[in-house]
Amino acid sequence: MTKRDYYEILGVAKSATYEEIKKTFRNTARKLHPDNKESGDEAAFKELAEAYEVLSDTNKRAQYDRYGHAGVKGAGQSFDNVDFSNFAGFGMDDIIDMLFGGGARGQARRGGPEQGANLKFDLQIEFLEGVFGVEKKITIKRLEDCETCTGTGAEPGSETTTCVTCAGQGQVQQVMNSFFGQSMRVIECPACQGSGKKIEKPCKTCRGEGQQRKTREFDIKVPQGIETGVRLRLTNAGDKGRRGGPFGDLYVIIHVKEHKSFIREGETIHLRQPVGVSLASLGGEMMVETVDGKRPLKIPAGTQSGATLILKESGVPRFNSPSARRGDQVVHVAVETPTKLSAEEKTLLEQLAQLRGESLVIPEAEKEAYEAAQALLHANSKDAKNGSDKDKKGAKSKTKHKDEQVKEDSSILDKLGEFFRPKNGEQEDE
Ligand SMILES: [Zn+2]
Ligand SMILES: [Zn+2]
Repeated sequence: MTKRDYYEILGVAKSATYEEIKKTFRNTARKLHPDNKESGDEAAFKELAEAYEVLSDTNKRAQYDRYGHAGVKGAGQSFDNVDFSNFAGFGMDDIIDMLFGGGARGQARRGGPEQGANLKFDLQIEFLEGVFGVEKKITIKRLEDCETCTGTGAEPGSETTTCVTCAGQGQVQQVMNSFFGQSMRVIECPACQGSGKKIEKPCKTCRGEGQQRKTREFDIKVPQGIETGVRLRLTNAGDKGRRGGPFGDLYVIIHVKEHKSFIREGETIHLRQPVGVSLASLGGEMMVETVDGKRPLKIPAGTQSGATLILKESGVPRFNSPSARRGDQVVHVAVETPTKLSAEEKTLLEQLAQLRGESLVIPEAEKEAYEAAQALLHANSKDAKNGSDKDKKGAKSKTKHKDEQVKEDSSILDKLGEFFRPKNGEQEDE
């Protein structure tokens, strides 16, 4: 008889946590439970319960991960003779607690082999390392078996006797009076906490714990195109499980530093590029900084500040992909107004202004018309208001004016943000 994979039955990933397994099981169990008139399925429910029995138990799960179904023979037998008609009137959660002993879990396993804890490491990398990938060495402290006692917890050479309560089995049978009537249940031996042995003299190095914290170095291969927040998993690089349990995993969480010039957005890189006013007007070409070094860029004649020019395939390589496909670099043009003009430059610009009919001062006639209008306005307001009232009004309108200024400033900030955001259609050509 071929059995289905337990993870598949539960519909969880191999890396699922106990909480994920519990949650998924409860949701599915509600659907499949024979009491459910719409989607109840007794055979499927038993299969699900068996998968949960194994995967919700750290020891059984470790056995199953290593040896498959052969490692957990007998799992699910306790469900073979369950008469589901007895459950009528009970909530699903009550039933699950009855079947699986509710909160008794963790406690009953304390002395047996334990899965080692998963560890977390925050790794900071440079911007360009995130773009192209990098190899790093990291140093962590993790629990390992004590070298003095090789994990037994007993002083070397000291007496370790077999536990009399369980005859060295680490487990004892217990008669359970449950909802299903009397049943036998195997629990961890309370006398030796499941080790099967009685230690006469605890190891001095680890004080009988059987474990020590060790400093270890690991090589991390950070793939290209990685971004902040991505977790890299190093199998078996976590803590060693107690009493011969398997190693946990190490999760390396990536933090990519910002770059002084580049702004990254997925596979696209943005760069603010100052362009001289002559080059922007006449058009031409220039070298532009990219993550690969400098690259030539054509500047079309009449390029405005805020214009975006694309350097194809100069962006970020696709994350964790062997393909050579890369994003683009978006160059945001900032036309620079020349400052510190020499006498000759001044003359040339003045000539240019004249040629283009750009007046550098307001024409005399226009100025006079403006001043006349102002004088008229001033005379009218003097007639209408008395002195003190005018002062109040003046202060008030000044405040209001300030508010408007603030509002306008924030909208300018929004616009500046907009400046670095890619516009529709220029990000990717998929
Ligand atoms: Zn020791
Ligand atoms: Zn015992």
